[in-house]
Amino acid sequence: MSSVLVILETRSGELRPACLETVGAARTIADAKGCNVVALATETANIDAAVVGGAGADQLMIATADAHSADAAATTIARVAKEVGADVVLLSATVRGRDITPRVAALLDTGFAADCTAVDSNTMIFTRPICGGKAFNNVKVNGDVVVASLRPNFFASAGRDHTAEISEVASETALAQVVEVAAQSGGRPDVAESTIVVSGGRGMASPDNWNLIEAIADAIPGAGLGASRAVVDAGWRPHSEQVGQTGKTVSPELYIAIGISGAIQHLAGMRSSKVIVAINKDPDAPIFKHATYGIVGDVFEVLPELAAELAK
Ligand SMILES: Cc1cc2nc3c(=O)[nH]c(=O)nc-3n(C[C@H](O)[C@H](O)[C@H](O)COP(=O)(O)OP(=O)(O)OC[C@H]3O[C@@H](n4cnc5c(N)ncnc54)[C@H](O)[C@@H]3O)c2cc1C
Repeated sequence: MSSVLVILETRSGELRPACLETVGAARTIADAKGCNVVALATETANIDAAVVGGAGADQLMIATADAHSADAAATTIARVAKEVGADVVLLSATVRGRDITPRVAALLDTGFAADCTAVDSNTMIFTRPICGGKAFNNVKVNGDVVVASLRPNFFASAGRDHTAEISEVASETALAQVVEVAAQSGGRPDVAESTIVVSGGRGMASPDNWNLIEAIADAIPGAGLGASRAVVDAGWRPHSEQVGQTGKTVSPELYIAIGISGAIQHLAGMRSSKVIVAINKDPDAPIFKHATYGIVGDVFEVLPELAAELAK
């Protein structure tokens, strides 16, 4: 019997939330095909079978590796894909997913669709934004196995009441292994995985003023910090926070752009956000053309007032 294999991503032994959306997409495809969803974590982790089952998986396999290795993850995925008769393999288009997806496709001698934002589960045609979101590619994978990575925040967990059947699988040997992941954003969620992003640009005038941005993020539980390239290039913020064409692509529920002009390269990384709030003193700033709500004002007046309101 065929199946849809979906890869779970973990960090420090915990499941990363974006994977549950990918599991939900796997469920939709499996329902159209009339087959099972097998979820595979490529390293040992503390994963709740009810959470993964609720997101849409029938089976949960946890591999024995005690640390991440892109090559071992890919060879383990390719082997398990054959063992479970997978004709679809889905990953999340995270930094790690982008590393593993082409390796898996190569090992399975097939093609892949990367960073997809939609899939037609009947035709198996994937949609992926190109040219910074100004156009879309519709992609069909012609190999025996369809491999694809799905962009976070575009798919939904199945949200059902089900506990996946759990089992252990052997990991392949690692040729190169990650020994440490050092977080840079002060314990906040990664900007690419945050459902709310508070993002600052050159309008903040100095890195010393970032306490105003952090005060907004602190008042919104789970908010991540983003930045324009101008402030990253100036050394005000780490590259891990950069949003845009040469930074990260985000599509949160809420994106707050503070002192950011809205250059095309910045828009490329955030224009698919569900709600965009822009704060800028220039009423003609391009960001306002894409904003759901706009505040024309000086950040040094608006941000303290906003922080005070959020604290209420
Ligand atoms: C190949 C290439 C790739 C690029 N990749 C990226 C990328 O990945 N991400 C990215 O962001 N950029 C990228 N850029 C750079 C991009 O073109 C812009 O230069 C950059 O986004 C501008 O950043 P900014 O909006 O912070 O600064 P600015 O364009 O200088 O805008 C600052 C804004 O702050 C406002 N402002 C100033 N003072 C205040 C105040 N007191 N109160 C309120 N508002 C105020 C101004 O009105 C202005 O709109 C790339 C460029 C190239 C050529």
